[in-house]
Amino acid sequence: MDADDSRAPKGSLRKFLEHLSGAGKAIGVLTSGGDAQGMNAAVRAVVRMGIYVGAKVYFIYEGYQGMVDGGSNIAEADWESVSSILQVGGTIIGSARCQAFRTREGRLKAACNLLQRGITNLCVIGGDGSLTGANLFRKEWSGLLEELARNGQIDKEAVQKYAYLNVVGMVGSIDNDFCGTDMTIGTDSALHRIIEVVDAIMTTAQSHQRTFVLEVMGRHCGYLALVSALACGADWVFLPESPPEEGWEEQMCVKLSENRARKKRLNIIIVAEGAIDTQNKPITSEKIKELVVTQLGYDTRVTILGHVQRGGTPSAFDRILASRMGVEAVIALLEATPDTPACVVSLNGNHAVRLPLMECVQMTQDVQKAMDERRFQDAVRLRGRSFAGNLNTYKRLAIKLPDDQIPKTNCNVAVINVGAPAAGMNAAVRSAVRVGIADGHRMLAIYDGFDGFAKGQIKEIGWTDVGGWTGQGGSILGTKRVLPGRYLDEIATQMRTHSINALLIIGGFETCDRIKQSASGTKRRVFIIETMGGYCGYLANMGGLAAGADAAYIFEEPFDIRDLQSNVEHLTEKMKTTIQRGLVLRNESCSENYTTDFIYQLYSEEGKGVFDCRKNVLGHMQQGGAPSPFDRNFGTKISARAMEWITAKLKEARGRGKKFTTDDSVCVLGISKRNVIFQPVAELKKQTDFEHRIPKEQWWLKLRPLMKILAKYKASYDVSDSGQLEHVQPWSV
Ligand code: ADP
Repeated sequence: MDADDSRAPKGSLRKFLEHLSGAGKAIGVLTSGGDAQGMNAAVRAVVRMGIYVGAKVYFIYEGYQGMVDGGSNIAEADWESVSSILQVGGTIIGSARCQAFRTREGRLKAACNLLQRGITNLCVIGGDGSLTGANLFRKEWSGLLEELARNGQIDKEAVQKYAYLNVVGMVGSIDNDFCGTDMTIGTDSALHRIIEVVDAIMTTAQSHQRTFVLEVMGRHCGYLALVSALACGADWVFLPESPPEEGWEEQMCVKLSENRARKKRLNIIIVAEGAIDTQNKPITSEKIKELVVTQLGYDTRVTILGHVQRGGTPSAFDRILASRMGVEAVIALLEATPDTPACVVSLNGNHAVRLPLMECVQMTQDVQKAMDERRFQDAVRLRGRSFAGNLNTYKRLAIKLPDDQIPKTNCNVAVINVGAPAAGMNAAVRSAVRVGIADGHRMLAIYDGFDGFAKGQIKEIGWTDVGGWTGQGGSILGTKRVLPGRYLDEIATQMRTHSINALLIIGGFETCDRIKQSASGTKRRVFIIETMGGYCGYLANMGGLAAGADAAYIFEEPFDIRDLQSNVEHLTEKMKTTIQRGLVLRNESCSENYTTDFIYQLYSEEGKGVFDCRKNVLGHMQQGGAPSPFDRNFGTKISARAMEWITAKLKEARGRGKKFTTDDSVCVLGISKRNVIFQPVAELKKQTDFEHRIPKEQWWLKLRPLMKILAKYKASYDVSDSGQLEHVQPWSV
């Protein structure tokens, strides 16, 4: 499994590696401020990447407090010290708030403690407060050194030698309250916790008629409230950035009572901890409850989620995000020069990027200022494109205009599910139906895929029919894995009979992110796990990254007996250390002959006396269960966009009599980098490997080396090929 030399940057490779060597450098890593799930994955990545490039890495325990106190609070980390922490919530190195670091005196002590160990590279994982502190520390650094020299605590040489402090930040915060990154570490896991609670409440509360007021964290940022409202189809949401219009009390009560009239038994209202009205007065969950009880007399319960949201295991998304950010942070430290400003590693679409730390902090503070000054539109805008997009989608889907206010288009739009059921499909149907109705179309549901289509299983579907669909797994419309080819005539007849003007097909993609493993706790054991995906190795690869696997065999990267042998040797070596477990993922169709059974038997034989093996074929459980918040929202948003596109196309075609499809009227909607794009099927054909049903180019393949670096493979990788560096080194693209 050596790096593919043909892709390595030619000529400049050696120079590049020299330039990126960490030899002789010391990196300190700390977690500060509120803890968040996924912080451990970031710490692990920093430690292992740091060691990989030859640097020394030090844990700084208890945030800035440990830096100020020194002593055993600053300790060198080794490879094993970060083993088995990927799946642990919180932070193993502790986090604290520290008053002393806010003073120059405290920072002077901290500088002295770092210098004693030669640490001039700092990796801070925390919120905007922690990052502001780090930036200030960096700016003061040379002044602090001079003062230490004057006090006789260090000599002149040290002042020269350690003249610059490099700082890189990663944002760990469940609130997603930092400008410049799409996601902060911990947010996705917090959303999982919230949605688990909402799902639990929904099942018990269906038996009674109840209203639930759910308070989620976010003193200054409504992200968690907004996105969980979107993911569970809440009836009302209160956010600090977008206070309700005056007179909201009455509007909300009308909406709730309308829902009751439609036989909806359960109302869910989500409130951000810091929700306010247009006069900046707090809107508390108690106040909302009182309102509902006095105005409507409904049985109303308040649930305050509190610290539950910070707890539990980090989600696959957070583990991958934090691992990628940690690796990028180390590269950023190695590349830093005295002139590089402190940076923060962020997520932009599916890319890890670096941004100037203080600009992001400033923007984050500007949002607060805008809210304080009641410039709420500015606040929403400053939160970024995706926040505003979420807010719009939520509003469109939550509130139905009265029928007489929707201009009718006289178009019939049908929705169908095809292929394997995937979590998030129902959310997509709900969103398409509601957006379609709001756009004035008559919406039709087709049951049981193309099979049902041919047989005419087609019915009109209304706004309330899709209520509560976001959280349901599988496909409520029903889907079959049959292709339309055999039924084209029948389907054409049905299209005519029902006058279908447009068809939205949802399916053919696996959006399941539910791969989990519980391999820790056992000794000297290697788990071999088979994942689904046909020929597509995405699940095996990303699952491997999230679970800290030793190998993930995929179709896209051919492997042979030598690779299997080197993996067995790697595992044997590993059993000699304190980490006595192994995890190997194998995508179901990665090789015709090296089957899961074969690998299991080979490893069992080769591992005799050193480790034993267990195998597990995950199979259909990967498609089951309740959809994750990501899948719900992805389904919801992408489907809303698809419907908008259909509406626009129908408008274009209006008045042209009989309509024919053109190339660009048959499209697939997807996300590429940051953007939602519509790709004509004809174009997509060129980019698809039909034999194996995968795209010819897959972005996530760039993350392959990352997993191996973090799993301590003996192979040597050019770190520029870790999939993180495209924006810095153009030749590595
Ligand atoms: P968060 O990082 O989650 O925003 P805080 O704002 O509480 O959390 O910051 C965490 C710690 O970072 C503080 O306890 C303090 O030690 C340090 N810190 C925050 N702001 C500053 C600042 N302006 N100057 C120096 N240190 C700071």
